[in-house]
Amino acid sequence: MGEMFDPPPMTTVDTRAVHAGREDLAALGVHVPPIDLSTTNPLPSVDAGGDAYETLATGGTLPAGASAVYQRLWNPTVARFETALAELEGTAESVAYASGMAALTAALLAATRDGRRHLVAVRPLYGGTDHVLATGLLGTEVTWARPEEVAAAIRPDTALVIAETPANPTLDLIDIAALAEAAGQVPLLIDNTVATPVLQQPTRHGARLVLHSATKSIGGHGDVLAGAIACDADWAARLRQVRALTGAILHPLGAYLLHRGLQTLPVRVRAQQASAEKLALWLTDHPAVARVHHPGVDDPSGLVGRQMSGPGSLLAFEVRGGAPVAAAVAGACRLITHAVSLGGVDTLIQHPASLTHRPVDGDARPDGGLLRLSVGLEDPEDLRADLAAALATV
Ligand SMILES: *Cc1c(COP(=O)(O)O)cnc(C)c1O
Repeated sequence: MGEMFDPPPMTTVDTRAVHAGREDLAALGVHVPPIDLSTTNPLPSVDAGGDAYETLATGGTLPAGASAVYQRLWNPTVARFETALAELEGTAESVAYASGMAALTAALLAATRDGRRHLVAVRPLYGGTDHVLATGLLGTEVTWARPEEVAAAIRPDTALVIAETPANPTLDLIDIAALAEAAGQVPLLIDNTVATPVLQQPTRHGARLVLHSATKSIGGHGDVLAGAIACDADWAARLRQVRALTGAILHPLGAYLLHRGLQTLPVRVRAQQASAEKLALWLTDHPAVARVHHPGVDDPSGLVGRQMSGPGSLLAFEVRGGAPVAAAVAGACRLITHAVSLGGVDTLIQHPASLTHRPVDGDARPDGGLLRLSVGLEDPEDLRADLAAALATV
């Protein structure tokens, strides 16, 4: 006993998912994490409070025994979730926000704080991300590049390279290691929302920042809006400073639910993925379907098995007849909910060109016939029957 088992061995993502961020609970005499809702914290003295404030407002972590001062600066329940997510991503730290877009905003502000304002981004990206970059709302200037064009697009004032793999909604895969090499000294941000750390850990392939809309698979039940960035300690300090100053911290109740969500993440991801593979294969042979996008049936990159341990639970398919037919199919589903979002326990279908990717301009907008399906935990036979009935109406 003793040293040999301290810290406890946690070899696989399954084991880490269950125990991460909970190591001190037994010593606290509790079995689940306490939820700390305090918006303010008693100060032991003016000097000690001032020191803690200084540390936290400049992006530091809470010194042992210090007052957390104010919830916008630090919250222990949020910090627990951050520790757990970092462990799953294999990063030193992570920083959680009130939404995925708040996390992206913080990353852009942190990356451009020294005055370099140029970004290189690979499409397709989540529609909201595309929108923020295309409008330049945060004072950034974007060059859109295909993966093989990234190296040439880098300028002296490039602050960040941004990509998403698998991409939403086409499920294109991008070689993260090749992209990191093309980015050179410029940090690479990978949106890992669709893959989750269960299937892919981007920092192992050279990414510097890993973005999550934790609203999706990490929460997994459609009841928490949240975001996070997993990264090294230097970036975490920058990101926490932005969060402390701009205020988009995650609420502790949300952090508690996300931390609980992590425990079942590996099981959910694999079960949903197994059903998605079945449905993708079945859709491939359906006469009303022109094309299926899912790395399980179509992986020209060969990255499943190398970069990703599996193809994931999100798929998309193009119906013959374009947007009117796609709209009719989405509307005809009965068990499957017609709604945006993804990664939850219930299956959702939506039309990206009208909804999630509506702001994307011109050629970059998804095909009108494309429908995106986020596969949940229902019996895949029930899902297949619902899709079959919906497709039969058109
Ligand atoms: C939903 C989503 C986002 C934005 O996250 P919110 O939590 O909705 O703010 C970013 N990236 C991807 C891939 C998403 O699916």
